[in-house]
Amino acid sequence: MALVNEHFLKLSNNYLFADIAKKVNAFKVSKPDKKVISLGIGDVTRPLCPAVIEAMHKAVDEMSSSASFRGYGPERGYDFLREAIIKNDYAPRGIHLDPSEIFVNDGAKSDTGNIQEIVRWDNSIGVTDPIYPVYIDSNVMIGRAGVMDETGKWSNVTYFPCTAENNFIPQLPDHRVDMIYLCYPNNPTGTVLSKEELRKWVNYAIRNDAIIFYDAAYEAYIQDPDIPHSIYEIKGARKVAIEFRSYSKTAGFTGVRCGYTVIPKELTAITIDGSQRVELNHIWDRRQSTKFNGTSYISQRAAEAIYTPEGKQQIRETIDYYMRNARLMRSTLSKLGYKVYGGENAPYLWVKTPDNQPSWKFFEKMLYSLGVVCTPGVGFGPSGEGYFRLTAFGNHEDVAEAMDRITRL
Ligand code: PLP
Repeated sequence: MALVNEHFLKLSNNYLFADIAKKVNAFKVSKPDKKVISLGIGDVTRPLCPAVIEAMHKAVDEMSSSASFRGYGPERGYDFLREAIIKNDYAPRGIHLDPSEIFVNDGAKSDTGNIQEIVRWDNSIGVTDPIYPVYIDSNVMIGRAGVMDETGKWSNVTYFPCTAENNFIPQLPDHRVDMIYLCYPNNPTGTVLSKEELRKWVNYAIRNDAIIFYDAAYEAYIQDPDIPHSIYEIKGARKVAIEFRSYSKTAGFTGVRCGYTVIPKELTAITIDGSQRVELNHIWDRRQSTKFNGTSYISQRAAEAIYTPEGKQQIRETIDYYMRNARLMRSTLSKLGYKVYGGENAPYLWVKTPDNQPSWKFFEKMLYSLGVVCTPGVGFGPSGEGYFRLTAFGNHEDVAEAMDRITRL
């Protein structure tokens, strides 16, 4: 008799965005004439830039001839892309990586969800709260998170609350945590961490022999020159941190699928009997070569194109477009008296609900009275209650109209 992995049954049935979509669809049916504007889901709306399109066309043409056709590629990714990553994303920041430390993937979701497989199931985990749900859910699936209590917290997870009260700066735990998930610039709060604050976490991980899973999917949105783009800007991080990057929001690749993970060779974890320290780069490589067959050649050529001078300029224009939306939302909502956080170094705004209204209640009010979709903050964790998230990924006209509707209300 095959037995189901019952840890899956502990997960809530619906994904947050499925719940939202259900409510939005019901509203559309009841009000077919009302234009609904979505500032909810974190998907991009601008098309791929010309440099990427050109590279993809060229790669497709290569596939049409037996001389240049590509079948299975290297599991870690093609050298041309890994070298472009090192040269453009890391070397200019004084970070020296070897191509063998880069693993090209099909986007950050897969690796941020799968990475927990390479450490023992009984490691303890810590997450900032609110949080991108993949980190916890992937740990629930393997039984590491424990059980959920009535407040929505998992018994084996340490939460580092990030709220207006602590300026969205997570505090170090007073006990040992083995696996720490940090995401900066942060989804959902849109806030960032300074070098000094990030250094505290790296030093904590070094002291406690812990690992930091650092999700930098939104680093391209950082505007402030003092904010770190990579955790490896912090001394010692190579020994304790894995970094995730994605082209999804950097270059509109949500439908193309490409990203990468960095696992430095110095990063090790110990066996339970304490006899051996094992390179996690090697373990991940072993895992990937068994379970992953590489990212498509066409996607990798597309990613390479964003590092050309034209590609760099074109993706910067799109990021600026979204950040203009963020500025409009920030200024409109602030003028109206909302308490607005984020949106300066990230494409997300995190807004306090008026009069501390519960997130879902406020979500319904925005939808039913204005036809504007936001994301209820509590969907990202208990500390998100009383907040809502807006994304800057819409087109200008929609964002401007949404702001008009809110102003008129
Ligand atoms: N990490 C964070 C924090 C995200 O918000 C997202 C997507 O929204 C991802 C990772 C996954 O991105 P992708 O799989 O498209 O690279």
